[in-house]
Amino acid sequence: MLRNNLKFRGAVFRTCSAAFVLVLVSAGIPPVPPANAETNVAGRSVFLDPGHSGVNDSAISSQVPNGRDGTKDCQTTGTSSNNGFPEHVFNWDVVLRIQDVLQGLGIHTGLSRSNDNELGPCVDQRAAEANAAHPDAIVSIHADGGPPWGSGFHVNYSSPPLYPAQRGPAMQLAGTIRDFLSGAGFRKSDYVGNDGLYGRADLAGLNFAEYPAVLVELGNMRNPGDAATMETVEGRARYAQAVTNGIVAYLQQTTTEGS
Ligand code: ZN
Repeated sequence: MLRNNLKFRGAVFRTCSAAFVLVLVSAGIPPVPPANAETNVAGRSVFLDPGHSGVNDSAISSQVPNGRDGTKDCQTTGTSSNNGFPEHVFNWDVVLRIQDVLQGLGIHTGLSRSNDNELGPCVDQRAAEANAAHPDAIVSIHADGGPPWGSGFHVNYSSPPLYPAQRGPAMQLAGTIRDFLSGAGFRKSDYVGNDGLYGRADLAGLNFAEYPAVLVELGNMRNPGDAATMETVEGRARYAQAVTNGIVAYLQQTTTEGS
């Protein structure tokens, strides 16, 4: 049903250094010149996964491989804020914002689902689509449904690693996105993970990933403070900008290192 949902578009080539500075300035983060002024992210590719789906039915509880010789539900509904703002809407909105900026930099993007009003693919299928795109990075966007007293973001990575990309590259991607979220003023989680990072073995999308992959829980929708930020356009734009800056910085790092 969603085999045509890879939306790689023609690259828009720009001067990366100028575009990157604009990205950083708009986020209120002091721009840091790339180590190599010739570094350009145009032509790189990023697969974006807006977590969950706009619509669900009983099929979401069908069992699919979890990437570690077990099974798990095809999909889950996701959480919502106490005001009833659904996580899938938040995820979709943030991912579109990330995609817009990445495409403006000439970065090819793919999406795991094509809209926010249909049943989307199972978690294992999303992982397969991500791998098929051979991207430089895979970034899944979520919001958590944690304890009401807990707040802040955390970036999940596969642990223990199953593929080479799940070792250094995924850790580097996770750490870079963590640093840019923190640098943009978002708090690291005070209820899960360690220093804004969380190694997990139970996320199929990360287990199957043959390319550097992270799953970002941008905040806790059950926490009134986090939810207040997530429920506003301005808050979602800030989250998206910070994640985008982290992705771009990671791409620049890996270009510089030739990896
Ligand atoms: Zn979620």
